[in-house]
Amino acid sequence: MLYARSSTDPRPFLPAQPGVEQKGASAALKLRNTAPRRTPHNKKICAHLGGNPLQKIFSGLPAAPGVGIGTLYTYTPLPNAAYDEAVEQSTSPAQEWQRFLDARQRVDDELTQLAEMDNPLVADIFRVHLEILHDRLISDGVRTAIDRGTSAATATHQTTSELVQLFQDLSDDYFASRSVDIRDVGQRLLTHLSGVSLARQLVSLPPNTVLVAEDLTPYDATHLSPDSVVGIVLAGSAPTAHTAILARSLGIPLICGVGTVVLHLTLGQTAVVDGLQGRLVVEPDPELLEAFTQTRERLLSFRITAESQSHKTAVTRDGQRVLVHANINSREDMLQMAGSGADGIGLLRTEYLFQERTKPPSVAEQMEAYGLIHSQSPGEILTVRLLDIGGDKPVRYLPQAAESNPFLGVRGIRLLLQHPNLLHDQLQALISLSQESGFSGVVRILVPMVSKVIEVHRVLAILDNIPGYNEQHQPGGRLQIGVMIEVPAAALMAERLAPLVDFFSIGTNDLAQYTMAADRVNSAVASLASPLDPAVLRLIGMACQAGQSAGIPVSICGEMAGDPSVFSLLFGLGVTEVSVVAPAVALVKEAVRQADGDEARRLARQALQASRAQEVHRLLHPE
Ligand code: PEP
Ligand code: MG
Repeated sequence: MLYARSSTDPRPFLPAQPGVEQKGASAALKLRNTAPRRTPHNKKICAHLGGNPLQKIFSGLPAAPGVGIGTLYTYTPLPNAAYDEAVEQSTSPAQEWQRFLDARQRVDDELTQLAEMDNPLVADIFRVHLEILHDRLISDGVRTAIDRGTSAATATHQTTSELVQLFQDLSDDYFASRSVDIRDVGQRLLTHLSGVSLARQLVSLPPNTVLVAEDLTPYDATHLSPDSVVGIVLAGSAPTAHTAILARSLGIPLICGVGTVVLHLTLGQTAVVDGLQGRLVVEPDPELLEAFTQTRERLLSFRITAESQSHKTAVTRDGQRVLVHANINSREDMLQMAGSGADGIGLLRTEYLFQERTKPPSVAEQMEAYGLIHSQSPGEILTVRLLDIGGDKPVRYLPQAAESNPFLGVRGIRLLLQHPNLLHDQLQALISLSQESGFSGVVRILVPMVSKVIEVHRVLAILDNIPGYNEQHQPGGRLQIGVMIEVPAAALMAERLAPLVDFFSIGTNDLAQYTMAADRVNSAVASLASPLDPAVLRLIGMACQAGQSAGIPVSICGEMAGDPSVFSLLFGLGVTEVSVVAPAVALVKEAVRQADGDEARRLARQALQASRAQEVHRLLHPE
């Protein structure tokens, strides 16, 4: 159970690299950014960087967007020794075990309440914590230690610390980063066992606090209020950590990976957290402070305008309608999408329907699931990506040989073609759904991880043999077929692929990783895997051109599309639709309204001529 992957699995996010000027790689983390406008304010910000000797600037990773201005407060959690002092001597094993069970029940009550929160992303974090709380690895470890004569608190501390260490040592970055969740659950248990709350300092912070800490657990983060904390600076952590998700949901700008040097800053100094660029500015000079204040106001007003118009169509200044669809990865995303203003569903990642089961869902189960999702959508397009599992996303009932490079292994369409029944059932479910009398939309079938034209021919041949496909796959019919452009080979062969299909969807998360040969979940190479790198942009441009020549729509469903500041560039490259996480829909629609075709094409031409991602980033955020 400890291996359960949360439906907020942040793998698609591409964190930027600390200390690197260019932050374009963090597109996914800028969901609440404004569109890129050359404004006097951001010019001014840069003009004054470093102009004042008292002023210090630290760079890190942008993890929750926005600008926060306040006074520094460094949070040092109480040392674990605090527990030992508070813990009574061990009584009998039976009594200690009962104390553990009582504490676990209290934590269960707390987490159950948190797991019912309105924000599904946040609720999901605490559902995972509930699973961890009841995992046998914890209860068995605690029981064994208690039976050896330790107190419930010490046993809990030992067991959870050992598990944290175990997870940190795993070579999989994802699981390693989740060790913080185990620590968090341990912290909650210990708080109840010892009566010492490690987070007590966090509840009484004064207004306008810029909180600096080595790291914060989600437990810590649930004690924070945006009324008092205007920005968070973490020496360590990652934009993909649950704390960053919580900060985004609270609307508190956060930067991370800044380094331990920030832990020694003087309490009470004025500081600006720039969650857009990943910077902390301490003691900014007055003009710079004024510029940041204006940026903060501008971001706020962009957001207010965007949200007030989220349900209106998005049309560029030169009159081009751009569909802004939603990406769905889980049941919770489906709920979020409903109120987001999305024009339809541009990417349904179907993996969650197939994972955590002992056998694949039947055709009927799949039809019901896809139909339900479509019924929650205000739009007619339902883009369903065929199962994209493989070495890095294992499924119990499809045993696969261990692969040393799972991202380069048997995944996506490669795996489906090796399991024709699985592929057939999913296609059958989608075709049958499109034939249902009560279904009024268009099912777009999206083939993942295409690297060879022959793979598409093979899928088309299978489709051809499924009754109903040819009737529905007609101009004006209810069925379309498209390919993901997420492998450089597919972009290079887009001209050959386009005439075979009805649409393209560009997966920039993988396209950047494969183009730059930089693992998308390895933070050490995150700055390399920027989708803003001109090499990636050239491939996007190629796919767009091929799509245009064949007269098919070209969408982008990678995380970069959720950054409103990138829309104009994508539009200029020839992208005709986008699909983004639900909270970004309103903002991207607003970015569409501010875009203009000629300007966008000029921007795209400049970006394609750039030598590196930093240059492109500067074009988007002119200074
Ligand atoms: C992508 O690669 O950009 C994409 C959308 O697919 P995923 O993130 O699910 O691999
Ligand atoms: Mg992909």
